[in-house]
Amino acid sequence: MQSFVYAANPVRVIFGSGTLAGLPDEVERLGLSRVLILATPQQAQSAQDLASRLGARAAGVFAGAVMHTPVDVTEAALKVVSELGVDGLVAVGGGSTTGLAKAIALRTDLPQIVVPTTYAGSEMTPILGETRDGRKVTQSSPKVLPEVVIYDVDLTLGLPVALSVTSGINAIAHAVEALYAKDANPVVTLMAEEAIGVMARALPGIAADPHGRQARSDALSAAWLCGLCLGSVGMSLHHKLCHTLGGAFNLPHAETHTAVLPHALAYNAAGVPAAMARIERALGTADAAGALFDLASGLGATMALREFGMPRDGIDLALELAMSNPYWNPRALDRDGLRALLVHAFEGRRP
Ligand code: NAD
Repeated sequence: MQSFVYAANPVRVIFGSGTLAGLPDEVERLGLSRVLILATPQQAQSAQDLASRLGARAAGVFAGAVMHTPVDVTEAALKVVSELGVDGLVAVGGGSTTGLAKAIALRTDLPQIVVPTTYAGSEMTPILGETRDGRKVTQSSPKVLPEVVIYDVDLTLGLPVALSVTSGINAIAHAVEALYAKDANPVVTLMAEEAIGVMARALPGIAADPHGRQARSDALSAAWLCGLCLGSVGMSLHHKLCHTLGGAFNLPHAETHTAVLPHALAYNAAGVPAAMARIERALGTADAAGALFDLASGLGATMALREFGMPRDGIDLALELAMSNPYWNPRALDRDGLRALLVHAFEGRRP
C-alpha cells in the first residue's frame, strides 16, 4: 500500500497555438494596469512585442534577466518596479526569466503571468533558486508560484535545436526523479510516465523539423507536466548534483542536466525497480539510462562535463560537496559510487 499526501498548486494554465493573443485578457482578469515585462537581453524583442500587445497596460520592459537569478539583477529590477509603479509582472522566456519574475514576486507579492519559451518547467513550481556572491540558494514559497501561465507553441518554434534537446532532457529529469520521490503520489506518477514518453518521442521530431507544430506542441505539453512533477514532489541525487555542479563551476543549466541524468539514473536504478519499469515502458527500452544517453547524444548534445569547462580536479570538490550536504535519495550515497558517476559524466561515457 502506498500512503501519500497530495496538494495541487493553483496556477491557471492556457495552452495552444496563438494563445499569446489572450495576454491582454489575462492582464485584465487579474485587474492589472501597469505590468512590467521581463526577458533576457537575447529576448528583448519578444518583450517589446508583448508590450505593444498590451498598449497602455504595459508600464515598461526590463530585459536584464540572466541565468541563476543573481540578487543584484533582482535589485536592479526592483528599482524599476518601484519607479514605474508596477502592479504586475509578465515574464517571457526560459527558466532564467521566470526566475527573475519569481524573485521580484517573493519581495513584492506582485502577481505573475509567465509565458515560457523553453521546457525548463520553472513556471509550474513554487521553487526559486537565487545566487548571491556566487552561491546559489534554493527556497520554496507559495509567493513565487505564478498566477497564470500562457503556453504558446508558436513562441517555441525558434528555440534552437540544441537548446530544445537539452531543455527537453532537463524536463525529463524532473519526471524521472518524481517517479522515485520520497513523497511520490499516484497523480504525479501518472503525469511523469506520460511526460517522459511524450518528450522522448518529440525531441527527434523537433531535430528533424524544428518548426513542426506537432512535435513542438508535444514537447511543450510534456514540459508542462514535467514542471508539475518538479513543483509537486521532492527531487533527489540528480537535481542535487546538477545544482552543486552548476554552482561550483558555473556550468550551463540544461546542458549539465543532460550530461548528468543518465549517470544519476544508472546510480539509482537498483534501488527503484518500480520507477525503472515505468521509465523503461515510457522510453520503450530495457535500459533507461543507456536510452537517455543515446537519445541526447544522438541529437547532438554534449555529454561530457569537461567540455563545459569543468576542471578535472573539480571531480573531488563536487564529490565533497555532494557528500557533505546529505539529502534523501533512494539509494544511499557512497563515495566510490558517486565518484564513478562523476567521472563518467565528466568524460561523457555511456553509462
Ligand atoms: P534560460 O532561460 O537561461 O534560456 C537560455 C537562453 O535561451 C537565453 O538566452 C534565452 O533568452 C534563450 N531562449 C529562451 N527561449 C528561447 C526561444 N524560444 N527562442 C530563442 N531563444 C530562447 O534557460 P532555461 O534552461 O530555460 O532556464 C535555466 C534557469 O532556470 C536556471 O537558472 C535554472 O536554475 C532555472 N530553473 C528553475 C526551476 C525552478 O523550478 N525554480 C526549474 C527549472 C529551471
